[in-house]
Amino acid sequence: MKPAKRARSAAPRRAAGGARATAGEPRAAAAESRTALVRRARRINRELAEVYPYAHPELDFENPFQLLVATVLSAQTTDLRVNQTTPALFARYPAPEDLAAADPEEVEEILRPCGFFRAKTRSVMGLSKALVERFDGEVPGRLEDLVTLPGVGRKTAFVVLGNAFGRPGITVDTHFQRLVRRWRWTEETEPEKIEAAVGALFPKSDWTMLSHHVIFHGRRMCHARKPACGACPIAPLCPAYGEGETDPEKAKKLLKYEKGGFPGQRLKPPQSYLDAGGVPAPPLGATR
Ligand code: SF4
Repeated sequence: MKPAKRARSAAPRRAAGGARATAGEPRAAAAESRTALVRRARRINRELAEVYPYAHPELDFENPFQLLVATVLSAQTTDLRVNQTTPALFARYPAPEDLAAADPEEVEEILRPCGFFRAKTRSVMGLSKALVERFDGEVPGRLEDLVTLPGVGRKTAFVVLGNAFGRPGITVDTHFQRLVRRWRWTEETEPEKIEAAVGALFPKSDWTMLSHHVIFHGRRMCHARKPACGACPIAPLCPAYGEGETDPEKAKKLLKYEKGGFPGQRLKPPQSYLDAGGVPAPPLGATR
């Protein structure tokens, strides 16, 4: 088993387009040409690919239907909680036909740990009915069809297209929005505009893995309130270095999931994650 890669030292150096920072001070803004921005953005993605070579969607799924339902359930809760809940759901209702014809009270009981379980029951049952009535019980592989399903927006559609159909898509979730703004990849604030602005910096073939790299980094190091700048391998490329903890030892204690030596979110993670020393999440109710 290969050991997990260690984050490189985040000693502040001159960042492209930024002035030299001292520990604890954000870098001063400086004009950056379009070419320099594209280069820096792509370099960040390459560095993140080295830090998270096993980056993947953090919802457990075995087919497009399971991924679609799991993504809808993941609103306002963690992927971990969804992963702990869906085994019982898919064992009882393996196909859209089964869920469409289910007793809502039974589904609610299964989905209770996900929070908002009544609304989520309505969503996944409505979604299943639409799949049966309009798509022969199959999840469609086109954006324009997916977004016609109840409760499915562009973010959910891109998760499904990118990970169940191999079609490139950018997933603009809360982590993605925060990080791309910290990196000054875009000033946009609306998800669709962020998607277009970031998409223009990368070839289409990079979009799905880019989304995983950014979201992995947001969940493990570049947290909303206390980013672990002192342990961050892309600190030299980041204009926001210093927004978080810059002391390397203190920063290391802020790392989460496999980077902090803790279990991940998936009960069934990909082999590459296990090979890198990642630990599967415990099932619902298990104590660790
Ligand atoms: S952790 Fe700090 S240095 Fe790293 S990307 Fe986030 S803000 Fe930048």
